[in-house]
Amino acid sequence: MSKFRRLLLFFPMVALTAVGCAPVPESADTSHDSLNVVCTTNVVKDLVAQVGGDRITVTAIMDGPGIDPHTYVTSPGDINTLTAADVVVYSGLHLEGQFDEPLESLRQRGIPVICLTAALAEETPSRLIAADGDAHDPHVWFDPDLWGDCAVHFAEQMGTHDPVGADDYLQNAQAYAAALSAAGQTGRDLLATINPQRRVLVTAHDAFAYFARYFDFSVEAVQGISTDSEPGLRRINELIELLCSRKISAVFTEQSVSDRNIRALLEGCRAQGHTLSIGGVLYSDTVGEAGTAEASLTGALLHNIREIADSLGDGVAP
Ligand SMILES: [Zn+2]
Repeated sequence: MSKFRRLLLFFPMVALTAVGCAPVPESADTSHDSLNVVCTTNVVKDLVAQVGGDRITVTAIMDGPGIDPHTYVTSPGDINTLTAADVVVYSGLHLEGQFDEPLESLRQRGIPVICLTAALAEETPSRLIAADGDAHDPHVWFDPDLWGDCAVHFAEQMGTHDPVGADDYLQNAQAYAAALSAAGQTGRDLLATINPQRRVLVTAHDAFAYFARYFDFSVEAVQGISTDSEPGLRRINELIELLCSRKISAVFTEQSVSDRNIRALLEGCRAQGHTLSIGGVLYSDTVGEAGTAEASLTGALLHNIREIADSLGDGVAP
């Protein structure tokens, strides 16, 4: 059991003993057990690791570049990992489609559960992109401003659970947000080489609407915001039509989604005499393998930007 959990359990007793007694010794943060923070995706893990610094240890349930969070179902082992956490963190806006029940049961057990997008969801006017019904597109991490704000929200929430670390969390969050913002500016410079006509991003599923808004693209996807339903032939044909008429030379596959539908676009364009290629594999709902440059969100974002600039750009600014 971590020191954090022990503190939670013993706090009422300490508070009672302290009333009317000798002065309570000042808390000295000379050493601390790190908090065990468990996240859902590895995109969340990147933010949590950067903001938590050495005050936490962090693990992700879906910790790999090929894992699809929309359809992932927790195993009994995952539930054990979540239950052992001091704090659980998830992205939200229904990204983790199958996690509603496990997260609710953690809350009922009294385990702090932090939703990174909770503050964004309450903003008026909202900066979130609308999806079907009253839902919002969950793929907010590709907007450096929004994800930076999620980092600050996480820092504030952590500060309530671990007040001694509150200043550290906030400073780390501000540094993380600044690094994302710098990557965003680098991205805008690199993508400036792409002619406005060809600033169309065709991907396997609809994960790039925030990216498109931030970097001034339009976006078309074979599947919707979630990967849990298959596209119809009509959608495939619409995209083939668009790619041929706009003479778009490349489409993109994703780390966490099958490339079957993207290959159907290649074949359809070939049949109409338009040469289309796969511009590269983009990170969408996950970042890269641990130990690579793409394991961080800034690394994954810059990877995507380079792939897009290489495939759709002219090498010179329009
Ligand atoms: Zn997605």
